Amino acid sequence: MSRKVEFFLHNLDENDISAACEVLRSVFLTTGSRVKEFESGFAKLLNIQEAVAVTSCTGALHLALMRYGIGPGDEVITTPMTFVATATAILEVGATPVFVDVCPNSGLLTPEAVEKHISEKTRAIVPVHLYGRMVDVKGFSALAQKHDLIFIEDAAHCIEGIRDEIRPGQLSHAACFSFYATKNITCGEGGALVTRSSEDAAWYRSARHHGISKNAASRYSKKYEHWDMEMMGWKYNMDDIHAALLLGQLAKVPSFHKQRENLEHLYRELLSDIEGLDFIEPPEPGEVSGHHLFTVLVPEDFSRDEVLTRLQEEGIGCAVNYRAVHNLSFFKETFGFRPEDFPVADRIGRRTITLPLYPKLTEEKVRFVCSTLKKILAR
Ligand SMILES: *Cc1c(COP(=O)(O)O)cnc(C)c1O
Repeated sequence: MSRKVEFFLHNLDENDISAACEVLRSVFLTTGSRVKEFESGFAKLLNIQEAVAVTSCTGALHLALMRYGIGPGDEVITTPMTFVATATAILEVGATPVFVDVCPNSGLLTPEAVEKHISEKTRAIVPVHLYGRMVDVKGFSALAQKHDLIFIEDAAHCIEGIRDEIRPGQLSHAACFSFYATKNITCGEGGALVTRSSEDAAWYRSARHHGISKNAASRYSKKYEHWDMEMMGWKYNMDDIHAALLLGQLAKVPSFHKQRENLEHLYRELLSDIEGLDFIEPPEPGEVSGHHLFTVLVPEDFSRDEVLTRLQEEGIGCAVNYRAVHNLSFFKETFGFRPEDFPVADRIGRRTITLPLYPKLTEEKVRFVCSTLKKILAR
């Protein structure tokens, strides 16, 4: 069976590869001038004061929770319709993830639903901009202020989003991004935090690197000086090799975004007449989605897994984003969750299929995916 349509193709070009090779041919490989350049470019793109580059979004979420002293005994509200990392970052600091079910139309957490689950122990809320569409950041920011909570955005899907004229990080304590292999810009593995606070950024720069007072670049560029460890830290610093791969992609974020948006429109148009096939609602007029993933919800009377298998047999790469986190073995066994505890996330998780969406995907291939799906779902 040959793959006719890849699930994902990255956008690294020869210039990006040369930029990484240039670092490899130099003396200095770890966190240095490339990382610094990437951080200022990324902050500029997001129109925010500070960006701190780390090794993953999971690490970024972990650091953001640590920054505000969230730990054992604390509850952190999040969504079960996400990648496991949103919830495991909460577990990493020793806090308890409290899932709140999502809105059936958008798959997003809403401030109204979250407010009902705020308890004495709640310290933070971590909503996810699912598939690129932003949650109601204004609403969450107001809710966080009202209840004195920390508001951290999982923006792994959403470099590009704008809702109510707000971009990720502009109203929250921190927004966390991923440059994992299939994200909108990638370096294989990587992540970043953005924040409006220069004190927070300084803390993140120390915390990502053992809590050491001087970073490797300043130790390298100057004569040896003793360094000190001033606070507990972790090992989450991005290196110059990864930063070099990312730097050139920054300028292309808008054009990549436009291409994915156009392809998503084409999918929605071509799939609109399949009986029983449902969609996550598109962004409202005036709202900008990151258009990271395009998903369909298979008709209730079809088996999602069979449709998934059939698509792959026809040479189409696809995936599931996501089976609801509360249904995964570890969470079931640790917390005793049942599927019906979060019925909307459960239902999305049982019906959803992610179709290919990336700038290198051609319209012709989108047409092929759609006609194949139509054939599979024919009655
Ligand atoms: C990819 C992803 C993460 C984790 O990102 P890493 O960089 O792999 O740690 C977290 N949350 C969401 C929603 C993701 O899609």
